Amino acid sequence: MAHVHLDQIRKVYPNGYVAVHGASLDINAGEFVVLVGPSGCGKSTTLRMIAGLEEISSGTLKIGDRVVNEVAPKDRNIAMVFQNYALYPHMNVYDNMAFGLKLSKVKKAEIDRRVREAAAILSIEPILDRKPKQLSGGQRQRVALGRAIVRDAEVFLFDEPLSNLDAKLRVQMRAEIGKLHRTLGKTMIYVTHDQVEAMTMGDRIVVLKDGYVQQMDTPLNLYHHPVNRFVASFIGSPSMNFVEGSIVRDSGLVFREQHGAFTVPLDATWRDTLTGHVGQAVTLGLRPEDFYAEASPARPTTTAAATFQIDVLEPMGSEVVVYASTPGQAAHQIVARLAPQTLPEPSQPITLALDTSKLHFFDAESEATLASAPMAVA
Ligand code: ADP
Repeated sequence: MAHVHLDQIRKVYPNGYVAVHGASLDINAGEFVVLVGPSGCGKSTTLRMIAGLEEISSGTLKIGDRVVNEVAPKDRNIAMVFQNYALYPHMNVYDNMAFGLKLSKVKKAEIDRRVREAAAILSIEPILDRKPKQLSGGQRQRVALGRAIVRDAEVFLFDEPLSNLDAKLRVQMRAEIGKLHRTLGKTMIYVTHDQVEAMTMGDRIVVLKDGYVQQMDTPLNLYHHPVNRFVASFIGSPSMNFVEGSIVRDSGLVFREQHGAFTVPLDATWRDTLTGHVGQAVTLGLRPEDFYAEASPARPTTTAAATFQIDVLEPMGSEVVVYASTPGQAAHQIVARLAPQTLPEPSQPITLALDTSKLHFFDAESEATLASAPMAVA
């Protein structure tokens, strides 16, 4: 187990493109940290610099207490699992797992012990004799994990390891990697573009955009206290709704949608943070689950009402996803997740209550968070 410390790590590719701008991250020993962000944000580059597969342009990388900027990948005490498992097709599962150890001249009895131990952890003992082409996608993924486990590394690095699997298997493997982390207790750094994977697997998540670290935090803190509009929109599905408007004073503090489609009275909890923004353009953020049908018994006491035109209803069984627009010419679409119930037909109006204790406000220009609702008490 080792901590991993990135201090102002920067990557400039030979063509001059800056893929990572001064990333500073403290990853604790034994922690499971997920790097997440849209394609091209610099996740793989960061991971590959930690692995030693990509040169670090500037900054300091420590694994444990050792600076490893100039240390060869094989001497960094890391194990890596890639998206394409790169199993040797002519070798059976046992030999695929043993190969790296044989190259490192580990004794035969020790190799056998480690391979069988890893096979037991992953429940792949019955397939040790099979060749990769005789395996399912999930089994191949387990063998790739096994190859990493036998190395007995301090730090495990994963680069989108589940993206070749179908949706159901991905969910299953997600849980298995989580279990593996608990069993081995090793430091794990995992790259994905999938925010659900990040939320379900990470002790902490690093959100990246355009080569810049946006926020590093626990899944729930990211969800409830995003530092900016990008993090707010990236985490959560369906995404947070954003409504442009301004803060005005009208017998009390009020958010007014820019075309006057609706207003949201703001109670005392918002006064301190938003009074200074009266007259300014702000963006209101509303999570889809913080809307309620007006007559819903589950409706919280702290609500404001707004009327929308229903565009599309998606009955999911456990909930109804409602796509609706503000009335008028400059229509603005919102997405709401409501408890299953009978709702008006599409193109009919619907009045929704929105929980005014769960609002988010962003600076319209810088997109930084001005205020986020306190985290809901479970
Ligand atoms: P991610 O893993 O988040 O999808 P990458 O780390 O692979 O992103 O890439 C980050 C950015 O760096 C992308 O814009 C990509 O095109 C660019 N990039 C990656 N490799 C190279 C390279 N060898 N030369 C120049 N640019 C590169």
